[in-house]
Amino acid sequence: MPISRRQFLKYCAGTGIAIGASGTLLPEIVEALEKAVAGNPPVAWIQGGGCTGCSVSLLNTVHPSIAEVLLKIISLKYHPTVMAASGEKAGDYLYDMAEKNKGKYFLAVEGTVVTGMDGKFCTPGKFKGKELTFIKLMVDMGTNAAAVLALGQCGAYGGIPAGKPNPTDSKGVMDFFKDHGIKTPVINIPGCPPHPDWIVGTIAHVLMFGVPELDSDGRPKLFYSTNVHDNCPYRSYYDANKFAKSFGDEGCRIELGCKGPESFADCWKRGWNKNVNWCIHNSLCFGCTQPGFPDKFSPLYTKIETAGREVA
Ligand code: SF4
Ligand code: SF4
Repeated sequence: MPISRRQFLKYCAGTGIAIGASGTLLPEIVEALEKAVAGNPPVAWIQGGGCTGCSVSLLNTVHPSIAEVLLKIISLKYHPTVMAASGEKAGDYLYDMAEKNKGKYFLAVEGTVVTGMDGKFCTPGKFKGKELTFIKLMVDMGTNAAAVLALGQCGAYGGIPAGKPNPTDSKGVMDFFKDHGIKTPVINIPGCPPHPDWIVGTIAHVLMFGVPELDSDGRPKLFYSTNVHDNCPYRSYYDANKFAKSFGDEGCRIELGCKGPESFADCWKRGWNKNVNWCIHNSLCFGCTQPGFPDKFSPLYTKIETAGREVA
């Protein structure tokens, strides 16, 4: 059964786990996605300055299973952490794939582009007989991709590696492309890490229906248009001026440093690990989906009026 864009958006926006939240719907959705993307251009995933947390998040995708995601749905052809191949052969395969699918493949970029020391801080390996910097890989792969998915806070906006004093001169993909005059469209999927539904859902949307509608920060509105604070389970405490003074107290956590009022994403309805938990249940929102994180929100356990203003 073919899946319409409208149906797809409805599934993605659903409460709980997005794509295939319900056990009864799941097989139909997986089958529909599989048929819809069959024969579509491949996706290559490369990693720059980051912690591999976005990959771990992807591996935690629950429905569909990660095997279905990798093999059937997103047609992932290259991933340094997950693929069995390694060394130069894997690097050559990436370049061959890009050459064969010039202008058609999609590139997922995890981590920052490390530009300090002419890129020597970040050299992902040998490709076609040469040891390359991540800068060179980004120019080669980014220029010829149909679109780039900038994954996580780091890929999107620079994240923790680009935090002050940014000793490696790390940058998000959009800023790097601007510096190098690369015009390839970029879709930001921020988060530290991003929810697996945001990653898989965006890739599936791109493959089936093209680039989704983006907000002014380059994020898919599908996942990033709602405010954490407006949808928080502690919101009634905030409205009643009942504030927790320490963890374990009853009340809204804004005085402990919660950044929910400034954060946009649907983590509040999705949760991690099959919706077992999310940040605010046992800690705070740190604003991980927002441009400027972490500096803008630091010190993290500080109330919003002062956070971000105490960092020189
Ligand atoms: S805990 Fe955070 S997100 Fe929730 S109501 Fe308080 S300030 Fe808003
Ligand atoms: S609650 Fe805040 S810190 Fe947690 S995922 Fe959502 S935006 Fe990021």
